[in-house]
Amino acid sequence: MCNISDLQTKPLAKLVAYTAEADKVAINAACLCYNSVPNSGVLKFCKDSGHESVFEHNAFTFEIQTSRIISQMFTRHRIASFSQRSQRYVVEDAFSYITPIEVEQNPAFANTWKEFQEEVQSFYTAMVAFGIPAEQARFALTNATTTVFYMTANAREWRHFLRLRLCYRAQEDIRIIARIILGELMRVCPTLFDDITYPCLMDGFCSQGKMRCGKIKFPGTSRLMPTKGEVSNIVALYMQEVSTWGE
Ligand SMILES: Cc1cc2nc3c(=O)[nH]c(=O)nc-3n(C[C@H](O)[C@H](O)[C@H](O)COP(=O)(O)OP(=O)(O)OC[C@H]3O[C@@H](n4cnc5c(N)ncnc54)[C@H](O)[C@@H]3O)c2cc1C
Repeated sequence: MCNISDLQTKPLAKLVAYTAEADKVAINAACLCYNSVPNSGVLKFCKDSGHESVFEHNAFTFEIQTSRIISQMFTRHRIASFSQRSQRYVVEDAFSYITPIEVEQNPAFANTWKEFQEEVQSFYTAMVAFGIPAEQARFALTNATTTVFYMTANAREWRHFLRLRLCYRAQEDIRIIARIILGELMRVCPTLFDDITYPCLMDGFCSQGKMRCGKIKFPGTSRLMPTKGEVSNIVALYMQEVSTWGE
């Protein structure tokens, strides 16, 4: 369990519980549907064809530490279950905050940022000491305040979450955590997640229109609709990179 004094200043995701042999259960579920002999190849068919209910017979729980503002993005994923540290019942006496990437990389702001957060901390502490309830004093805290929560979802929902949050169009702060989560899932149950990449690579096209990141280059072409061969080449390169995530 994470104590309040252990709260981090860097985003963190730790797999704390998961269904053993979730891949085997998915295979058995699919083969039960088709009255076929259980075989791992059936999972590719289920992924490609959209027979995704077979990925629901399991649960993967992560303990995630990030800023309050990024935690709000996680909780938009309604199929998942959440338990988040309360700012009503827990006094933030070991105040910790996450520094945004751009601020961290910009020395012109880094010091002022720190001073500002410390000022907020003093103000909050003074309010609580005065007798203002924590649930009211927390109004003074910033979006950067570190929070910790459990997020539990089945493989189908994690696959959906990862597709949305690995995309370059998602905010980098949540993309960092999404990469750690995929690394952890690949470590314990690769068969259910080994096709997960950037959504454009999985779909073979970018759905973001004019908002597209332009970072994913399909070799030899600037077309938005790459050929299947181009996609599989990039997927292979990408999977090499994924294998190092979560280490
Ligand atoms: C790049 C990016 C930018 C975003 N920008 C904004 C923004 O500016 N403002 C904002 O408010 N949000 C924004 N979001 C959040 C986004 O709108 C979704 O709320 C979030 O990504 C969760 O996605 P989801 O609903 O598919 O996931 P989940 O809630 O996990 O749902 C999973 C799937 O279940 C189904 N489902 C769940 N609930 C319902 C329902 N009530 N009715 C029908 N089907 C349902 C859908 O098929 C859904 O895809 C952004 C997300 C991304 C990735």
